[in-house]
Amino acid sequence: MTAARSGAEELWTGLNAAQADGHECVMCEVSFVVPEVPAQHRPAPVPGTRTGPSGVPSVPVGVSETGSQVFACLGICAALAFPD
Ligand SMILES: [Zn+2]
Repeated sequence: MTAARSGAEELWTGLNAAQADGHECVMCEVSFVVPEVPAQHRPAPVPGTRTGPSGVPSVPVGVSETGSQVFACLGICAALAFPD
């Protein structure tokens, strides 16, 4: 939950519960938390991204209706989520 929300932050609606909690990609619904990959087998973190337990790098793309930050996979999903 962010106290000061930027006016430019995108509000996502129509997400499923896991997406709205930031646990799934808002574009392709891949999970960032399952299956849980042991830390030593996760890829090295990419600067500017978050890597969850499943090892999928993701980038914040806005907030859900619940106010939680939501994420998209790094790559095509983030590009589609953020056309600019
Ligand atoms: Zn995705």
